[in-house]
Amino acid sequence: HAKALGKGQFQFFTREMNTAAHQRLALDSALRRAQEANELSVAYQPKIDPYGVPCGFEALMRWNSAELGPISPERFIPLAEETGLIESMTDFVLRRACQEAVSWPLPVSVAVNLSPRLFRDPHLAARVEAILAETGLPAARLELEITESALLGDLSQTMTIIESLRALGARIALDDFGTGYSSLTYLRRLPIDIVKIDRSFVTDCEQGGEAMAIPRSIIALGRCLHLRIVAEGVENPRQLEQLAAYGCDEFQGFLIAKPLSPEDARAFLEGKRVG
Ligand code: C2E
Ligand code: MG
Ligand code: MG
Ligand code: MG
Repeated sequence: HAKALGKGQFQFFTREMNTAAHQRLALDSALRRAQEANELSVAYQPKIDPYGVPCGFEALMRWNSAELGPISPERFIPLAEETGLIESMTDFVLRRACQEAVSWPLPVSVAVNLSPRLFRDPHLAARVEAILAETGLPAARLELEITESALLGDLSQTMTIIESLRALGARIALDDFGTGYSSLTYLRRLPIDIVKIDRSFVTDCEQGGEAMAIPRSIIALGRCLHLRIVAEGVENPRQLEQLAAYGCDEFQGFLIAKPLSPEDARAFLEGKRVG
């Protein structure tokens, strides 16, 4: 590319790259200090069943940087994965989420996202077990969300770790289902309990008819495999109705509530209006 450009443009191009690299460095060094500086927190987004009864919450990491302001997980999670910071950040979310869930007025579940990189550590299940023991949360109330990309690494080690996590009593959810590489084959072979239909398919549900083909198929397949099916990114009643009609078990999205502060999450469980 650079060759094809004139001399001036080439310099411009490298300057742009320099800026991007600098921004990334600045973000990385700020992220390294974030945990100690108490800038990380956890938001809780509720999931409900077709009757509107709360089933649990997904724990979502938040970073409000003193220098840079609030940064989206879409920006800092990939960076943390690259650098390895995700390890200690996940311990933080897991510990926080378990502590919080223990204090909830109802024994609903809490779901924590596990990035693919974590499956490089053969002791992952032992770390989760230690945090459960430390916080006193029953493993049955913990869900761990993985994405299909977790399967791109050492598959046999990943499978072993997933089995160990389930042996603790935690449930495994396949997140963003339908957007990854594996889909149908893995859905049957993987030791999982829950499948989360990706938001992109939920968006389609509004139109009904042929747009329902994929979400309907995921639900049908999930039911055959005795998996619990969760729809993510439900934004309007029409989507919820369509998905419920085909047997979707749980619903998560802005229609129900945005990710909530710990206080609002508790209020949600007490049946108060929040958000
Ligand atoms: P995800 O696990 O698929 O989480 C759902 C994302 O969709 C959240 O974005 C949530 O705020 C957003 N969302 C929920 N309902 C709706 C809706 O109705 N409409 C729309 N447009 N969006 C909705 P968030 O919190 O920005 O997180 C983005 C992603 O970052 C997550 O996607 C997850 O992959 C990752 N992430 C967040 N926290 C963690 C964490 O603690 N560990 C890891 N490894 N990844 C995390
Ligand atoms: Mg998730
Ligand atoms: Mg998801
Ligand atoms: Mg998603």
